[in-house]
Amino acid sequence: MPDVSEPVAKRVLVVEDNDLNRKLFCDVLRANGFEVEPVADGEFVLDAARAFAPDLVLMDIQLPNVSGVDLIAALKRERGLADVPVLAVTAYAGKGDEDRIRDAGAADYLAKPVSIGPFMAAVRRLVPAA
Ligand code: MN
Repeated sequence: MPDVSEPVAKRVLVVEDNDLNRKLFCDVLRANGFEVEPVADGEFVLDAARAFAPDLVLMDIQLPNVSGVDLIAALKRERGLADVPVLAVTAYAGKGDEDRIRDAGAADYLAKPVSIGPFMAAVRRLVPAA
């Protein structure tokens, strides 16, 4: 019988094509008790999200072949994924870019380079009780 007192780890889908950044995000999240699923290629994001059923999607905006903004919009169009909050991470700094990212459905936005403290604070705002 499962131990119901054991909290279930919250799940974060980590979409980031840069190997070092992806490893950093995953290491920090694991160290904070999250279960993570790394995705390096934007092509696999929707399938990975369907299979992993994340509580949060961390979305790099600059990806090869596909924009993270388009992937956020695609997630928001999909039943079962539309309500999953998306935390966008981007090297873009412009206000217009931030508006575009939020308009696509991102719940929050972090500019690179990302510091661990603000990163985890943003994650915890979007995944309460984690
Ligand atoms: Mn990138």
